[in-house]
Amino acid sequence: MEHLKRRRAELARSLRPAGLDSLLVSDPLNVAYLSSFTGGDSFLLLTPRRTILISDHRYAGQIEDECPDLETHLRPHNQTTHQAVADVLSGLKVRSVGVESAHLTLAEFETLQELAPALDWSPRKDLVEALRVIKDDSEIEQIREAIDMAARAFTMLRAMLSPKDTEKELADALDGYIRRAGGRGSPFPPIIAAGERSALPHCPPTDRVVSESNLLLVDWGAQGRLYQSDLTRVFRMPARPAKAARARRGRVETRLQKVYTIVLQAQARAIAAVRPGVAAKDVDAAARSFIAAAGHGPHFTHGLGHGIGLQTHEAPRVRENSTDVLRAGMVITIEPGIYLPGWGGVRIEDDVLVIEDGCEVLSAAVPKEWEDVTMND
Ligand code: ZN
Ligand code: ZN
Repeated sequence: MEHLKRRRAELARSLRPAGLDSLLVSDPLNVAYLSSFTGGDSFLLLTPRRTILISDHRYAGQIEDECPDLETHLRPHNQTTHQAVADVLSGLKVRSVGVESAHLTLAEFETLQELAPALDWSPRKDLVEALRVIKDDSEIEQIREAIDMAARAFTMLRAMLSPKDTEKELADALDGYIRRAGGRGSPFPPIIAAGERSALPHCPPTDRVVSESNLLLVDWGAQGRLYQSDLTRVFRMPARPAKAARARRGRVETRLQKVYTIVLQAQARAIAAVRPGVAAKDVDAAARSFIAAAGHGPHFTHGLGHGIGLQTHEAPRVRENSTDVLRAGMVITIEPGIYLPGWGGVRIEDDVLVIEDGCEVLSAAVPKEWEDVTMND
């Protein structure tokens, strides 16, 4: 619970400089980040001295399990959450309340203003998100667990792969393997793209039989209790029977292997560039310039990566126009890709922790050398 207290203390310290007496946290992920409470319909009210969870009796048991030490206000059933917020505020000596403008509807904002018109209601952005950028030990541990779940699910997927599987069947199966590995499921619908469909960086799975192509891209993650992972691997699938004889004639340097090797080397360059104090856009450039020098500049059509944690995409942004600077404790994805329309795409994605003297690839246990991703005929 110490890490929760530390996060709340740090947030409380940021209120006065932001011109606020209190902050109403309404985003469920931010509520969970600050309290460990994962139920819905609940707000967290934070002042420099107190933190109050405003919830209702349906969640009494869950609050007891997840955050027994937290001061809690359970509203009566004939009262709305917003009325309860106004009630609690009327008992506190606060004049200004910050609200999370990215997570409160305009209608809710107006309702709160009507219920407590004497207060100065102030829309704010990213107060909690600014803390979430740097992960503490407890968060890093949970991200490691989510990566481990994804890795184990992926091992099961590889072991169970059959020539008749379709993209959709594999996506559903992968979801089940993640649950079997202890996860809550997929944080985002897995991308399973065979052949030329992999040239679309975000394509939904179809009824296509994956063994009909020689390339299979899998972009998946695992949802832990709160934290997530996000990975991508590409396989060379066994040659189809008609081509088997040709494939057996020795190791042919295929186009896939060439493209794969460029992406893998670009990723290695980006990972080598990750350390505290480096501009995120320079990490993007380390991969992008390598891919461009190999003649594929126009085929790398997205940013290099993004922060992960409670959400699949969160700060920092790791892309060409990013103004973010890397700091120890950030967890980011590094996912360069080359997409050739009509042929296919290769993306390799790992989750990386920025540490004092560089970085640690948290997903290093998921193999990605060419030999590792070549499925046997
Ligand atoms: Zn991904
Ligand atoms: Zn990603």
